[in-house]
Amino acid sequence: MRVTTNQEKYLDEVFGIPDSDLADVRQRMLAASKERMSISSAEARILQFLIRGFQIKRIVEFGTLSGYSALAMAKALPEDGEIFTLEKDPEHHRWAKETFADSPQAKKVHLLVGEAKNLMGTLKGPFDMVFIDANKTGYVDYLEWAEKNVRVGGLIIGDNTFLWGALWEEASRANIGNEQIRVMREFNERLADPKKYNSTLIPTIEGLTVAQKLS
Ligand code: SAH
Ligand code: MG
Repeated sequence: MRVTTNQEKYLDEVFGIPDSDLADVRQRMLAASKERMSISSAEARILQFLIRGFQIKRIVEFGTLSGYSALAMAKALPEDGEIFTLEKDPEHHRWAKETFADSPQAKKVHLLVGEAKNLMGTLKGPFDMVFIDANKTGYVDYLEWAEKNVRVGGLIIGDNTFLWGALWEEASRANIGNEQIRVMREFNERLADPKKYNSTLIPTIEGLTVAQKLS
């Protein structure tokens, strides 16, 4: 298990999100040993910052898990904002349903269950932001969909884009397949193109690629 550094602790103390409903979801993920699959509270704050700063109203998320990131994003949206979040695992989907069962944010959130590749075709754009956080081998397919369905000026964001070090060092490749490495390289390299995107890779612990579509 990775040790939390003092830097992370400080960041979380000052810029984490203290909301008790988010803390409850995180607690339930901890109990199920799935907490590490979710974004951190400080990363949730980055997404909220972007949603408010870019006046985002309509979001698609690839990979719901328990709905932690969806709940955090919903909180930053205006009252008439919406998130469509895609999840293939029925158990995770049920879990996310519980997260939103009594939440005032529920009216903004559409929980869709199934393979992301099959579901994405049913969504009607344009969207203001796409947050990609599902299976890493799907990132380029999701990017291609996002390129067509995000409005000019909107955001395409990918989580875990350092791929746990596997992009640049052999030693970190033990549990990462070659296909994931190939796909994540292509994902980052495409979004790094300054002719198409205003973009960067925010060096969070696991890497967060953020790109604003220019044309
Ligand atoms: N965004 C969440 C974490 C998502 S974890 C958060 O930060 O809180 C990744 C999720 O993607 C898992 O729940 C996994 O079941 C789901 N997933 C993996 N492959 C998928 C696919 N092909 N289609 C849809 N969901 C998928
Ligand atoms: Mg992630």
